Amino acid sequence: MKSNTKRLNRESKTVSVMIQMYCDFHHHPESGLCDACQELSDYADKRVSKCPYGEDKPACVSCPTHCYVKQKRQAIQEVMRFSGPRMAWRHPWLAIMHLVDSSKKVDDLESISQENNSIYVMASLDGTKKGRRHLLQLQIDKDKTLLLGQVNIYKLLKKLARNVDDIETQKFIHKALSEKSIDLEAHSVHSNDLYLGFKSPHGDLGETIILKLDNIQQVMNGETVKGGIWKKITLLDPQTGAPSSLSDMMFMDEQLLLLSVNKNISMDDSHLWSYLTSTSKLTPIKSFHGLSAEGVTATNAKNELMVVFDGNGKTQSRFLPISIN
Ligand SMILES: [Zn+2]
Repeated sequence: MKSNTKRLNRESKTVSVMIQMYCDFHHHPESGLCDACQELSDYADKRVSKCPYGEDKPACVSCPTHCYVKQKRQAIQEVMRFSGPRMAWRHPWLAIMHLVDSSKKVDDLESISQENNSIYVMASLDGTKKGRRHLLQLQIDKDKTLLLGQVNIYKLLKKLARNVDDIETQKFIHKALSEKSIDLEAHSVHSNDLYLGFKSPHGDLGETIILKLDNIQQVMNGETVKGGIWKKITLLDPQTGAPSSLSDMMFMDEQLLLLSVNKNISMDDSHLWSYLTSTSKLTPIKSFHGLSAEGVTATNAKNELMVVFDGNGKTQSRFLPISIN
């Protein structure tokens, strides 16, 4: 998909999630949207698709052109007033996309985590294809997003390979960097350390590899990096036994929640896992058949997670709240 189309899709995805939240709360539809909100949503989609700025489209929030008719503009402003602040909690993913959109540099967001007052975003930045993936440290200050720092993930891995004594870690990083099969979609900052979860390459026995890099501030400051392979976890589809690849991860206290995806005949199946870091015990929590799960995030409700599914360009992304104990 061209970044332009991607951008427009993202914008209409953001707006439609906002309308859904507003409608759920105010109009309690049995499913989907009520008639009035559906009309507003269709209207918003149409406006985005006809946006005169095309490739240079700014995020709608910062657009100088008022392309909505007055009555629809008032309706969408009411939706944004309600859903905007809630979105930061319910869907940090999209809220961040919306914020960083205005900087225009970020091409693709892979994962996001939060610790202390910082939000960490792993994203691809414009530029040459190789070495595009960066880790950004952001701080949200009222309605401004401050970029506190950024590091290039590939340079970081090269540096780690030079510093580390562990042969297995060295070999893995060289394999990842040379093979072009490198696919890094998961990261987490936890107790001041950085964890990187690889979708590929896998370990020699097909395990999912997670690296741990000590001290996130030293990492962000470009100081000497220390760390290595932290865990090797074998993720197999609980029904079929097919190898499943990591798409996201997040810490919840000493529990690591993992999301993985694998093909099942022609469809994607996804799985949510709990991994206890102290005992290395892996437990499947839930499987999603025919769906490609790309993100997991906490919500403001206790013991509730939000899983984000990739619509594969055909349908819109879906969000599913999951209760866990
Ligand atoms: Zn409604």
